[in-house]
Amino acid sequence: MRRQEVVMLMLQQRQQIVDYGLKMIRSGLTTGSGGNLSILSAADNLIAISPSGIDYHDVTAADVVVVNRAGQRVEGERKPSSELGFHLALYTAREDITTIVHTHSVYATTLACLHWEIPAVHYLVAFSGDKVPLAPYATFGSAELADNIIASIGSYNAVLLANHGLVAVGKDMKSSFNVAEEIELVARIYYQAKSLGQPVLVDAEEMTRVTEKFCSYGQQDKSTS
Ligand code: 13P
Ligand code: ZN
Repeated sequence: MRRQEVVMLMLQQRQQIVDYGLKMIRSGLTTGSGGNLSILSAADNLIAISPSGIDYHDVTAADVVVVNRAGQRVEGERKPSSELGFHLALYTAREDITTIVHTHSVYATTLACLHWEIPAVHYLVAFSGDKVPLAPYATFGSAELADNIIASIGSYNAVLLANHGLVAVGKDMKSSFNVAEEIELVARIYYQAKSLGQPVLVDAEEMTRVTEKFCSYGQQDKSTS
């Protein structure tokens, strides 16, 4: 008898979750099995999400769990991330996003433990918007935490979770990861600037200019300015 080939749903996305989980560890954005990642396939309404409590070094594509929009497991043996609730809620609330990265990055989390938002201390805060808002504390994995995130994130691309960490969202894994990485840099700069004095903030008009400029930054169009 021929062995039946096993085809996994969302194989490409599962592999991306494995790759970016490792990237998250190697970039120092989280430790152990802290944080989680997910990708929405809008075409078939399925979500691939990291498994709960498995060290990123050990996660394989087969460990990544595929669920439907209601959170029911469609494929995979593992238990999905304990934060499945807020991932589902974010995909419902934000039709513009298809990827979520949650980290426990040290500087962002330090500010979140003070219950501070991150203001426009450096123009790179534009990766989130004109600031990074703060979601009030609730137990990890709770429906209350999901509610608090939805009530706080608005149209920002990042939100601090009080006494917990950071959530970054975007249109693909590269951009969500980038948001998490750049906001960690801004958090560190804010921490250091606050340690030396009173940081001078970028004003609202300039942040609008920066946000517009971000739309054509890099290789997104081929103009020369
Ligand atoms: P999971 O391993 O269940 O994804 O939990 C990690 C975490 O960061 C909880 O907030
Ligand atoms: Zn967490």
